[in-house]
Amino acid sequence: MKRYIDLHVHTCYSDGVNTPQEVLEMVISKNLEAFAITDHDTLEGYWAMRKLLTDKAPELISGVELSVTMEETDVHLLAYLFDPDYPPLKTELLDFHRKRNHRALLMVSKLNELGVDINYEAVKKVAHGAPIGRPHIAQVMYDNQVVNYYEEAFEQYLGNDKPAYIPKDNFEPQKAIALIHQAGGLAVLAHPGIEHKDKYLEKLIGFGLDGIEVYPPSHPQADTDRFKHLYRLVITGGSDYHGRGERNRMIGSQKVPYDCLTRLKEKSVDPLGRSRKEMR
Ligand code: AMP
Ligand code: ZN
Ligand code: FE
Ligand code: FE
Repeated sequence: MKRYIDLHVHTCYSDGVNTPQEVLEMVISKNLEAFAITDHDTLEGYWAMRKLLTDKAPELISGVELSVTMEETDVHLLAYLFDPDYPPLKTELLDFHRKRNHRALLMVSKLNELGVDINYEAVKKVAHGAPIGRPHIAQVMYDNQVVNYYEEAFEQYLGNDKPAYIPKDNFEPQKAIALIHQAGGLAVLAHPGIEHKDKYLEKLIGFGLDGIEVYPPSHPQADTDRFKHLYRLVITGGSDYHGRGERNRMIGSQKVPYDCLTRLKEKSVDPLGRSRKEMR
């Protein structure tokens, strides 16, 4: 039987809806062999998941989704197979958590200026201590009936070119990739098809990018194939499950073969079997 994985899942520890327990039940019900929690800027969901795992549980690999800025655009990188205890990574994540919450406060002020009645305390409540993202704000707007459906919050206010949008204070891509490597992990370009982020591939490869998310196949396939072969990028994939909205795809929906994880693991060690962490 073919073995499948999902390497892109969010929990309520960032801007997803489900608890690690609920996510684990879904992973098990889909018969997945391995998975990664890739919350934005936090490992809290990963640690909570680790505590739930029994001997027979599917394999969990370390993961996190980081945002970098390229030509003033928000680009997402997925980090995998790193040491989750690496202190410099923890420090950076805490800093991004703080900056995200400050940005959310500014976005709420902007919404208020635009006449939207919403307060920061309500957003914080929905986030339950997680680094605040636009989905939390959209959720409160929907709950308060400021918008008629969840996506409308993005279409009218929060989308990248909409009036209440404030860009995040992100990592520089070189710095993010270097940090991931120092932590022993691999850096993968997330959902390159969304807003044609694949145009940054060449630059990212120059900075040491290791892989590209091609499941779901939402980008120019020819380009991806070219880069994959030219630069030996590892192919990965996942659902980017958040649990709400129309963009939502179910956990396991992308049918990502386990081979992708095998390749990732192979790439994370040198020919002598040493990990990047051991080499640092
Ligand atoms: P943030 O990290 O706070 O900038 O929020 C990014 C998250 O918002 C993404 O991970 C998506 O889950 C969600 N998102 C961004 N744009 C849209 C959109 N147009 N419709 C629905 N969700 C979106
Ligand atoms: Zn998200
Ligand atoms: Fe993303
Ligand atoms: Fe994501």
